[in-house]
Amino acid sequence: MDKLHEECGVFGIFGHPEAANLTYLGLYALQHRGQESAGIAASDGEQVRVSRDMGYVADVFDSETLAHLAGTAAIGHVRYSTAGESRLTNAQPILIDCNHGQIAICHNGNLVNARELREELVRQGSIFQSGSDTEVILHLYARSRAVGVDEAIVDSISQVQGAFSLALLTRDRLVAVRDPHGFRPLALGRLDNAWVVASETCAMDLIGATYVRDVEPGEVLVVSAAGVRSIKPFPPAPLAHCIFEHVYFARPDSYVFGRSVNEVRTELGRNLAREQPAAADVVVPVPDSGVCAAMGYAEESGISLRMGLIRNHYVGRTFIQPQQSIRHFGVKVKLNPVRSILEGKRVVLVDDSIVRGTTSRKIVRMVRAAGAKEVHVRISCPPTISPCFYGVDTPRKSELIAATHTIDEITQFLEADSVAYLSLEGLLSTVGAERNAYCRSCYTGVYPVEFPRDEATYLQLALKLDKETVAG
Ligand code: SF4
Repeated sequence: MDKLHEECGVFGIFGHPEAANLTYLGLYALQHRGQESAGIAASDGEQVRVSRDMGYVADVFDSETLAHLAGTAAIGHVRYSTAGESRLTNAQPILIDCNHGQIAICHNGNLVNARELREELVRQGSIFQSGSDTEVILHLYARSRAVGVDEAIVDSISQVQGAFSLALLTRDRLVAVRDPHGFRPLALGRLDNAWVVASETCAMDLIGATYVRDVEPGEVLVVSAAGVRSIKPFPPAPLAHCIFEHVYFARPDSYVFGRSVNEVRTELGRNLAREQPAAADVVVPVPDSGVCAAMGYAEESGISLRMGLIRNHYVGRTFIQPQQSIRHFGVKVKLNPVRSILEGKRVVLVDDSIVRGTTSRKIVRMVRAAGAKEVHVRISCPPTISPCFYGVDTPRKSELIAATHTIDEITQFLEADSVAYLSLEGLLSTVGAERNAYCRSCYTGVYPVEFPRDEATYLQLALKLDKETVAG
């Protein structure tokens, strides 16, 4: 499907005899945040061991692998690659042994100065194993002259910029870190006497842990046998929580940035109905991404909500197109229209975003082919016009349909009767007083964290924009 992709999910636990098994379950709940690779590192107090591979969590681990990951502390990771291509060396956790001892790292986010740091480290003789920006942190850690593990971790992360929610594991401690802007979520919880950290609270629900609070932006939380120690080593910075977590990435049963995702998403749908009404007979969500917003839209507009598209949940990443001659399956493999709901109806089709527009067009055609009289596309966030540099996989600006087309042109391209988006004000009003704490760069093209080189060069280097677009 034509969606933006969250880069990663992280999980960590300290002080539980079933640490690796619980991490496996936690990753299972976070699978939506990354499907390319999965990994777990565990410590038995003497040694940190790691296991990681390409694929879904359920494919990567079996009881034998988990039994090998002995110990009462563990961290885990699911990955969808953005920085560094998709291959096993980029899978996490990354485990190294250095003069500070063993350390494993899991990272959700993207470092904007990784390239500069990496070039400097390579000049000084560092040898990198992967293309991932996360490895830079480990090199900085290994080279740190700070005395003590906590101090060396603080020293290394003080040199990186951008988005990072981290879970680190040494022989005797779990360390959770969130960048000073708080781009990506990271929650802290308790399970009996154990401490748990996770990208989303849905991972805590699955293992029966209780949410305590968020790891604060700029906080380094060290969990060891001595208890929990909170360090705040960074100068205060403007908050920039990723608003797209609420729009699309996070699971609706999670709380992120202190808010229920389901509540926010439903409210986005209500706002959308107020701002962009349509004379229609049914509201139909694009499953699963548009369901919460469609419920809000239906509730506010009084138009009945019907599941006019059914999703096949069993299409995995390994789905192989049968053969060239019958490749026109396309989106039909994932979605099927319900003719009895759509035939002869004026349909409001609700989704959370349009990226390139190609999938949306196929869905509009599918709804029409099932007999819909009119199709009015309603999107529960503003037009996505600019790439993300903080841990979300976005295509080049030139490929984002809203960056290069007017609403009328998008309507024509999608072959819809009308297309309308929620306004930025409509989006921000759902998070109310907290509005200034959110990043919204993919809707505005204004970035809250400066790039180390001038922006045009950075964007060019990141291969996100075409030359002529950068110059503009
Ligand atoms: S640019 Fe968009 S997707 Fe990226 S962190 Fe900001 S709000 Fe999230």
